[in-house]
Amino acid sequence: MWYKADITIIGAGVVGLAIAAQVASKDRAVYVLEKNEAFGLEISSRQSGVIHCGIYYPEGSLKAKMCVDGNRILYELCERYGIGYRRLGKLIVATSDEETRELQTLLARGQGNGTEGLRILSKQEMKELEPNVEGIAAILSPSTGIIDSYALMKYFIARAKEAGVQIAYQTKVVGIEKKADGYKVTVEDGTGKFSFTTRTLVNCAGLHCDKVAELAGIDIAKAGYKLHYCKGEYFSVSSSKNTLVKRLIFPVPPPKVTGVGIHVTFDLEGRMRLGPSIHYVDSIDYAIDNRHKQLFYDSVRRFLPFIEYGELEPEMAGIRPKLQEPGGDIKDFVIRDESDKGLPGFINLIGIESPGLTASPAIAKYVRGLIEGVSYRH
Ligand SMILES: Cc1cc2nc3c(=O)[nH]c(=O)nc-3n(C[C@H](O)[C@H](O)[C@H](O)COP(=O)(O)OP(=O)(O)OC[C@H]3O[C@@H](n4cnc5c(N)ncnc54)[C@H](O)[C@@H]3O)c2cc1C
Repeated sequence: MWYKADITIIGAGVVGLAIAAQVASKDRAVYVLEKNEAFGLEISSRQSGVIHCGIYYPEGSLKAKMCVDGNRILYELCERYGIGYRRLGKLIVATSDEETRELQTLLARGQGNGTEGLRILSKQEMKELEPNVEGIAAILSPSTGIIDSYALMKYFIARAKEAGVQIAYQTKVVGIEKKADGYKVTVEDGTGKFSFTTRTLVNCAGLHCDKVAELAGIDIAKAGYKLHYCKGEYFSVSSSKNTLVKRLIFPVPPPKVTGVGIHVTFDLEGRMRLGPSIHYVDSIDYAIDNRHKQLFYDSVRRFLPFIEYGELEPEMAGIRPKLQEPGGDIKDFVIRDESDKGLPGFINLIGIESPGLTASPAIAKYVRGLIEGVSYRH
């Protein structure tokens, strides 16, 4: 079917689709290959839908730059193309003196990263905004919001398709071989196996990106690409509590920021939920352990005293593709052309965990720069 592609993107999650929309052009043959029967069925549909503001990530990291940039681009896209969103704002609430000191560190980091509008609130100022939240101080982030991630992916698909990108579902990449002028890619679809060549190959395979990198002959242990799966569960809260807070309410994150802490988020219909928790797991399964209800309750009742144990119900779970090992240091996104491994034009995106949804349009710009040899401007 395709004998010579210019750019082939593996994975139709929000990241692969954002890249497809960004690199799409009538002058190029661009393909997206997706092993599932539809787009966005893995990480991109099992997440919080928060447009993050960029406060958590180390200064200078790709996570920080792309989160701040992606935040701005997402709001522009939402406004211009009617993608559902709400700029709710968020509070990060301190409940101890130690956490109050940590707010200063977070504030400085966020400001260093270029996050707009951050400020510290006293207890009284916090209570004026959110009378049902308990704490002794908070950071207000006005640029945090929520987005309809399904509509965002549909927007990227429409943009890509109008410039000629083809998306092949139920098409799994099973082989990658370096050739003189690009890569021979072998795929498996309902009818069997076939191969084609592509000049540039972009690996956006989410939870399977390490295995795809391995297909190209990369030693993933040596490269530091081995993923650790980390489950995040969500519990819903009784609808009678939906209006008790107006903003997203987050705790001060634990040290080493494996996640941002179990927080309150809303969907676009205004339903409140708590999550995501953090449990490293060996395999991908989305079952929720009801015994974790106590952990959810204990995590939030310090700052949300109106939550009752009996009203929490298991809702859904997602899996993070972490480079960070349990107890290990925070790791940045890996987004690179693998020329120094003898694989020019093979672009790997590894460990695209949160804030990958927020960052997706900025990641796409960055990858386009790698393909076209142009450097990324923040
Ligand atoms: C619990 C949780 C909460 C989160 N909350 C937020 C949040 O609030 N805000 C935020 O900004 N980010 C959040 N994130 C992060 C964000 O969801 C992800 O960074 C983003 O969705 C990753 O998108 P992706 O396209 O890389 O991966 P995916 O959506 O998983 O897409 C990868 C695709 O590749 C396909 N694929 C894999 N292997 C192959 C193969 N061999 N051949 C063909 N196709 C293949 C898969 O089927 C899949 O569809 C959260 C993540 C989790 C897990």
